[in-house]
Amino acid sequence: MWDTEVLIAGAGPVGLTLAAALTRRGRPAIVIDRQPEGANTSRAAVIHARTLEALDELDVTGEMVERGVIVPHFTVRDGDRALLTVDFSDLPTRYPYTLMLPQSDTELILSDRLRRLGGSVRRPAELVGFRQDDDGVTATLRDGQTVRARYLVGADGMHSTVRDLSGIGFTGKAYEESFVLADVRMDWPLPADEVTLHFSPAGLVVVAPLPGGRHRIVATLDEAPEHPAAADVQAILDARGPRREHAKVREVLWSSRFRVHHRLAEHYRSGRVFLAGDAAHVHSPAGGQGMNTGVQDAIALAAVLAEGSDLDRYETVRRPIAAGVVALTDRMTRLATLRSRPLIAVRNTVLPIVGGVPAVRRGLAMNLSELSTIARGKGA
Ligand SMILES: Cc1cc2nc3c(=O)[nH]c(=O)nc-3n(C[C@H](O)[C@H](O)[C@H](O)COP(=O)(O)OP(=O)(O)OC[C@H]3O[C@@H](n4cnc5c(N)ncnc54)[C@H](O)[C@@H]3O)c2cc1C
Repeated sequence: MWDTEVLIAGAGPVGLTLAAALTRRGRPAIVIDRQPEGANTSRAAVIHARTLEALDELDVTGEMVERGVIVPHFTVRDGDRALLTVDFSDLPTRYPYTLMLPQSDTELILSDRLRRLGGSVRRPAELVGFRQDDDGVTATLRDGQTVRARYLVGADGMHSTVRDLSGIGFTGKAYEESFVLADVRMDWPLPADEVTLHFSPAGLVVVAPLPGGRHRIVATLDEAPEHPAAADVQAILDARGPRREHAKVREVLWSSRFRVHHRLAEHYRSGRVFLAGDAAHVHSPAGGQGMNTGVQDAIALAAVLAEGSDLDRYETVRRPIAAGVVALTDRMTRLATLRSRPLIAVRNTVLPIVGGVPAVRRGLAMNLSELSTIARGKGA
């Protein structure tokens, strides 16, 4: 039987951040993952200012910024017309921008940091059961081994076993559309330092720069192919992207399709068991908030577990933040995928007016970067 203070199920970005933050604080932690190796696909690519600030304590931000692409603006467009620009460049932070970095790079940097702190991921090791008592949790792994810990954290993703075994509900729904993701090489007529959200009756398409001259495309589609090809991405950009000068897709480097849910765990804590990251909240990728909120959960939870008192503070502070993110990304997704022509006309008239108000633009930038007071979560 292994013995530790905190057992973390799941070595995605959230489990790795939590393990590194606990280890740095001198708290014994074991992180396990059922996969024999870490994932090497691009997935979540947006890292916001508040996440970079939170990761400062792990001393990984410098390397992330060095490897990523700095993007100071998000622009909402309808065809060639800019409806709204969100400017991050004068935000009150050391990192007044959004950083674009593939999730595989973020995970490599975090696991490297964990290793340098003296920790490691035990894999393949799948948690299949646990029981709690007054002093701790005894978890069972698929190979029959057991782990005894004071606390168990489910950082085991959207289909969390820890959440299911705890009987914690995961309330919400799936969006009707699928989301297409593709990392491509292409000729792109718009500025290289901008994330563009194109609103169109055919659906939303987001175009963002990635390191190495690549671009990330995210689009909603009713019936998406399992592995979108260059012609699929080209058709999406032709229908929804800039019209005066079209994009030209040259190569698809990685692509995927996924159904997006918006769901929130009814509780983040059940006795000695906690949830963090996708195990606790999932939502639309509009605005790129998913991994950011999870990584910030991990930093907050490390502080609470290291103190070992006021354990409820984690849920009290972090759950309302996730509820806010689920609501904000849901509004953005619905606004972006309007199909009614009269409503589209209203949106396209109102957005530039509303976006012309400096306080509104700043509020949006503060919310998206997760720097606003509510997103900061006073006390965690
Ligand atoms: C194809 C794809 C594209 C995405 N694109 C975006 C995007 O563009 N923007 C965005 O913000 N987000 C995106 N996401 C979501 C983003 O990847 C997640 O928000 C992020 O990975 C959450 O991190 P996590 O550590 O909470 O969970 P995960 O990254 O899901 O990690 C969970 C880990 O737990 C392990 N695990 C599961 N069950 C067990 C168990 N019982 N025992 C042990 N280990 C277990 C898994 O193997 C996995 O390694 C995407 C996700 C996918 C799949």
